[in-house]
Amino acid sequence: MGAKPLSVIALDVGGTGIKGLVQTADGTELASCARPTPVTEGVEAVLAEIIDSVRTLRAEAAEQSEAVAIGVICPGHVDAESGMALYSANIGWRDIPLADLLSRQIGVPAYIGHDVRAAGLAEATHGAARSVAEALYVQIGTGIAGAVISGGKVLAGAAYLAGEIGHIPVVPGGEECACGQRGCTETYASASALARRYRSAAATAEPISAPEVLARIDEDPIARTVFDCAVTALGRALVTYTLLMDPELIVIGGGLSLAGQTLLSPLAAELAAGLAWRPAPRLVAGDFGADAGRIGAALLAWRGVGVPA
Ligand SMILES: [Zn+2]
Repeated sequence: MGAKPLSVIALDVGGTGIKGLVQTADGTELASCARPTPVTEGVEAVLAEIIDSVRTLRAEAAEQSEAVAIGVICPGHVDAESGMALYSANIGWRDIPLADLLSRQIGVPAYIGHDVRAAGLAEATHGAARSVAEALYVQIGTGIAGAVISGGKVLAGAAYLAGEIGHIPVVPGGEECACGQRGCTETYASASALARRYRSAAATAEPISAPEVLARIDEDPIARTVFDCAVTALGRALVTYTLLMDPELIVIGGGLSLAGQTLLSPLAAELAAGLAWRPAPRLVAGDFGADAGRIGAALLAWRGVGVPA
């Protein structure tokens, strides 16, 4: 009887849900989970849910593999080197020594990372941006954030705050953003902004989602206007990034990337129009959709223990 293959436990902890998987080094998925994040019950409850998710996943894959590391990603301000989750408005925590807590509770090394940078790492390693040295990964969901890929690496920045493309101001004196600034890209172009701006412009309380707004753009002039504003805002932010960093490729991920060419075609046109004197980078949807985060979390765990994956 040979030794069991090694595996890692990966978790993507968001403001609404926790998604996890157990993966071997060749990428085989042995177990997975998805459960809500109990944000309204407080930070202790969220931490207990994270630990229980890891234990459950480990138990489910225990017969087929030996878990050697944990990778956890979360939103907000994350210091991957010290393993601290410094701040997240969505989860409501501050200064949590998450990596230490997990390695003590579970008994294997734990590594943490920023959710969108980890998703970008997944796309850069095995997905749409593989073998592209200079790229940008943009995740459009409740908010908008990016992963700056340069020299084939995802850059964290001086204070682990690189890639916050959602807060590039694109409308001077524009709508107020949750960050305290005005006219931010995500105030116009995130999935939640599309829904909110549609409800406001149509003066309706109808619980409409961003995909529903997109589905209406051909027959509903309000949906068309809200969508066009989103494309203009996002286009401006991508023009700014392109002028500064000269990427070969821009990868769009997150929930709104599922809109495919409905979003990509007008966005590519906007990007080309804003870059009149130079060619625009290619623009594509990510390969991993909503799974990019946990695939990136698994990569962080493998790299942490020095196993190529
Ligand atoms: Zn902002």
